[in-house]
Amino acid sequence: MIDEVIKEINRADTILVAGHIMPDGDDVSSICSLVMGLEKYGKKVIGAIDDEIPGYLEELPILKEKIRDFDCVKNTPADLIIIVDASSPDRVGRIQELFEYKRIVVIDHHATNLNFGHVNWVDATSASTAQLVFKLNQKLGVKYDEELATINLLGVATDTGFFKYSNTNAQVFEDVSKLVSFGGNISYITNAILENKPIENVLLFKDVIENLKFKKDKKIAYTYVSLDMLKKYNILPKNTPPFVGDLRSLKGVEVAIVFNEHEKNVFHTSMRSKKYFDVSEVALHFGGGGHVRAAGFSKESDNIEKLMEEVTDYIAEKMEK
Ligand code: 5GP
Ligand code: MN
Repeated sequence: MIDEVIKEINRADTILVAGHIMPDGDDVSSICSLVMGLEKYGKKVIGAIDDEIPGYLEELPILKEKIRDFDCVKNTPADLIIIVDASSPDRVGRIQELFEYKRIVVIDHHATNLNFGHVNWVDATSASTAQLVFKLNQKLGVKYDEELATINLLGVATDTGFFKYSNTNAQVFEDVSKLVSFGGNISYITNAILENKPIENVLLFKDVIENLKFKKDKKIAYTYVSLDMLKKYNILPKNTPPFVGDLRSLKGVEVAIVFNEHEKNVFHTSMRSKKYFDVSEVALHFGGGGHVRAAGFSKESDNIEKLMEEVTDYIAEKMEK
């Protein structure tokens, strides 16, 4: 499939590289690394996300330089759109409006990918999309410098939980080893992302813990973050901290869920599992997607308690089977 992707790249003059809404580290890393790689390969290329980049990624200024918003790219004459890290077309937001008459290539690592491109390179065995981009750049003969190696490393680091999730396989360390030898700087990334927590996040965490509930002998832990709670600490919805990892880390918890209100009465539901439960199936059931150990969906509700019960009852029932 990588050869099909290269064929599409060689046929195109101008390329738009697009990521998904509610972008994460792997998404922005994949866009930025592919934009930089294709620039070095001699293409006219622009990166885009139809959403804001969260605050914790603002420490990496190269992202702002390489990734534009929708208004900036909507009139771009790109003849090829490469979509990275997005499992379904709704995940790219208004960038979907640009699909008509253009070739679409999808590069992704979600098993739930709907293969919505003309060419779909989907490898669910890859821990991150950033590693697929690394493979592609290398195959194109792109020379890596410190800047490109570091930004490419970002996606591998964040999607593996800094090299500790179950997706952290030998390929991760092989790729990381190469990226570090090309000048990739891990401590720059860890400092920017992990050692940079705003104090407001910790204050909000206290309120989040007050709302914490359990089900199934405390195997399911769940809570929510409302717009009012964010407002209390002056936190923007795009900067909602990823508390779901903190819940999963609790002893005995198999499934952790945080219902994050990001627009009035719209909840982005973030799910994580520890050892055996498949949360991607739950996400699919509620109209989202993701991985076995990390998945999500968005749902409208004017009653958060009811939504939480609906989702957690569904999970509790699945656990019994
Ligand atoms: P997170 O909980 O960090 O937002 O997302 C976890 C994983 O699930 C990510 O791989 C993300 O791409 C995927 N995911 C989250 N929300 C959605 C959604 O609404 N639709 C789809 N297709 N995937 C999602
Ligand atoms: Mn990813």
